[in-house]
Amino acid sequence: MSIQIPRGTQDILPGDSEKWQYVERVASEICRNFQYKEIRTPIFESSELFMRGVGDTTDIVQKEMYLFEDRGGRNLALRPEGTASIVRSYVENKMHGLANQPVKLYYTGPMFRYERPQAGRYRQFVQFGAEALGSEDPSIDAEVLSLAMSIYQKLGLKKLKLVINSLGDLESRAAHREALVNHFKTRIGEFCSDCQNRLEKNPLRILDCKKDRDHELMSTAPSIIDFLNEESKNYFEKVQQYLTSMGVDFIVDPTLVRGLDYYNHTAFEIMSNAEGFGAITTLCGGGRYNGLVKMMGGPETPGIGFAFSVERLLAALDAEGVELPIDQSIDCYLASLGDEAKDFTVKLLNDLRIEGISAEMDYLDRKIKAQFKSADRLKAKYVAVLGEDELAQNVINLKDMSSGEQQKISLESFVEHLKQKCQ
Ligand code: ATP
Ligand code: MG
Repeated sequence: MSIQIPRGTQDILPGDSEKWQYVERVASEICRNFQYKEIRTPIFESSELFMRGVGDTTDIVQKEMYLFEDRGGRNLALRPEGTASIVRSYVENKMHGLANQPVKLYYTGPMFRYERPQAGRYRQFVQFGAEALGSEDPSIDAEVLSLAMSIYQKLGLKKLKLVINSLGDLESRAAHREALVNHFKTRIGEFCSDCQNRLEKNPLRILDCKKDRDHELMSTAPSIIDFLNEESKNYFEKVQQYLTSMGVDFIVDPTLVRGLDYYNHTAFEIMSNAEGFGAITTLCGGGRYNGLVKMMGGPETPGIGFAFSVERLLAALDAEGVELPIDQSIDCYLASLGDEAKDFTVKLLNDLRIEGISAEMDYLDRKIKAQFKSADRLKAKYVAVLGEDELAQNVINLKDMSSGEQQKISLESFVEHLKQKCQ
């Protein structure tokens, strides 16, 4: 039997790969407008990085990591997400010492999680994310949210829901935590074993449990909103005020949580409202993580970021019926008749390409009619025909495929002529 692609992965073939390139280009351009710069980190890291940086009570670390030992006995992991690597790099490269603060970064690349594959859930998927490190100004929270929304909107998504919440500061969270433990502890036996472990380690994550979602204690659990101290409340209000002034629509949902200890203040998700968009509607997740840099061995540094997968973004575009404006056409197809003309065409084709004109020819010695068919399939804007007669007269016959107009151009001036037309 032939070897097949690993479960939960996919080949992105020509015809689709252009969509990926387009999405990545638009997202990068918007990051440039927002002044986020690209960072590229390794695809594998020391597995400890994620145990600490993502948190050892999370599903990612407990169940989903691709772990391996290299030939030198090092414990490594394929990265399951981007933030931990970026914080590592920030600390390692002493970015807190850079003149420009906050440090605003974006990344894109494959992530790996051992999950049960289904629509919108893969074992290798591509995330696009951004992080801002070094400012605790609520305007940065609003900026990061607007950045994520802008990318989606620029790509043509309309049916979006931005949901935000505040997890408060350390003091607010500690008070909420205590209330949560008291709320769940007498009946924790009715919950899944993960939740039983979470009770002491990280009770906030109980609220995020997919198995016990419908337990009656869930809907009556104490809400973080009631535990926000004055400062946290003001912070959250300021974020909302900025979002409103930017014209970014949002909904506040006090049940939205991000369960790690170093998450605080703003947490958010962007969902798709599109009809027929599968069971998984969350496109993007993010939040503020003021404790993370310190925990990873750097100086006390606030941070906030988000990540989305290109897979779910493309699925949302599909569900909304958005066609990306991808130009699949080529500038010129060179058709030739006869051996001599073909030899000349090989050189001419190369000249065109070097001058920045996208061009193609026939490599299979096909008849002229079949060459014209190829030109059609490739959506050539111009078709140039070189036969024995043309060669004898030192000209090439150029046809503008949109107007049908034909013109004889001298061979010497052909490249320059086409360059003018295709600019
Ligand atoms: P979920 O609840 O769907 O498992 P998550 O909380 O694990 O999501 P994050 O770690 O916050 O997701 O990752 C951010 C984004 O990355 C998600 O909102 C989603 O768009 C995308 N994502 C996460 N896991 C996958 C996956 N296995 N396949 C495709 N996209 C994914
Ligand atoms: Mg997950």
